[in-house]
Amino acid sequence: MTETPAQLAETEVVDFCCDLIRFDTTNWGEGRSKGEREAAEYVAEALRRAGLEPQIYESAPGRANVVARMRGTDPDAGALVVHGHLDVVPAQAEDWQVDPFAAEIRDGLVWGRGAVDMKNMDAMILAAALRMSREGHQPTRDIIFAFFADEEDNGTYGAGWMVQNHPELFDGATEAISEVGGFSADIAGTRAYLIQTGEKGLHWTKMTATGTAGHGSAVQQDNPVVTLAEAVAAIGNHTWPIEYTKTTRALFEQLSELTGIPFDEHNPQQLLEATGSTAKFIAATLQNTSNPTLLEAGYKHNVVPGEASALVDARTLPEQDEKVAAVLRELAGEKVTFELLNAGPSIELPFSGALVEQMVAALHAEDPEAKVLPYMLGGGTDNKHLAQLGIAGYGFAPLQLPPELDFTGMFHGVDERVPVDSLRFGVRTLYRFLAAQ
Ligand SMILES: [Zn+2]
Repeated sequence: MTETPAQLAETEVVDFCCDLIRFDTTNWGEGRSKGEREAAEYVAEALRRAGLEPQIYESAPGRANVVARMRGTDPDAGALVVHGHLDVVPAQAEDWQVDPFAAEIRDGLVWGRGAVDMKNMDAMILAAALRMSREGHQPTRDIIFAFFADEEDNGTYGAGWMVQNHPELFDGATEAISEVGGFSADIAGTRAYLIQTGEKGLHWTKMTATGTAGHGSAVQQDNPVVTLAEAVAAIGNHTWPIEYTKTTRALFEQLSELTGIPFDEHNPQQLLEATGSTAKFIAATLQNTSNPTLLEAGYKHNVVPGEASALVDARTLPEQDEKVAAVLRELAGEKVTFELLNAGPSIELPFSGALVEQMVAALHAEDPEAKVLPYMLGGGTDNKHLAQLGIAGYGFAPLQLPPELDFTGMFHGVDERVPVDSLRFGVRTLYRFLAAQ
């Protein structure tokens, strides 16, 4: 008996996911990576089988991006970008229960680096595109499939480079979907899907204290190590106030409705706890954050250095970059200077309109009882780069997950794994959504 395109897609999504995990595409940051070219060629081959004409764009040797456009029937309709990244963060094999790059299937789950972030969605995109092609389904609007390198650093060799060097590939694109949204969470016994309609901004700074270099035995008045340590402590200990955006307010109002727990703006703890393992993820979106992450000073035990520096990773609520920068300067004091090393805009989009309705409809078709809620991501995705082209990017990588699985805790974590059934649900739902375009 031959399989239908729908059945094939559910088999292929698992194969694609396993194959992609087996390409070790570790991104160590600062330009060091491996495997992206090989993974890109694999993806391009799958897209060719879907009747598309993918092109590979290398930003540097081995740093490969793949783009293919599926033509819609209406050339005037704004195009949709469906994108994923092919790189993964490093995995320390000794910390894992399995080989992180073997893609073992154990207890009905695919295990491996990227199973969650984000070779699962890459696989869903490929399997859904193939199903569309086999069924001869042409969308109304163009769909641009893009697979980027270097998302796990800052996109310098991936989406950032593509937007700078090949903006023409995204001509006519108005909206995008990608990772970190559309997954289910157990909220007080109800299955709710969280669609990502916003991302916090990224504000990475280096702060430097200078002083007088000298002998380690001397009486020192302006030791930069001490100045910097005080600044680091002040920033690290700072409590940012809880503030709501349109997205987080809407989320908490709906959580309150769902759980019957009143929404106390000043103390959302009880509502947060009702979101289970997702609570930590959501908590980060209720305030700005500023974490010192790296220290550098000195070169010998008996020498006071002339300079000390630290890196601070701050994530900002929408429209608050300048305010956060001012607070950091004040906390650090006058003797410390700041340099902005990397900035990415925050994103906040409405939880309404045709695209959101199509996401909700696709989820409800597969899971009629489910609730669908908006949320904001505390981290960042390649949608920040696409935003420079005026493209409104959502997080929609639909997965129905068992309630006990700490899905959001597995991003960049050990023993990353995704249920086979979730991948199958994902490709069905993503297909429905893409077929509605
Ligand atoms: Zn990711």
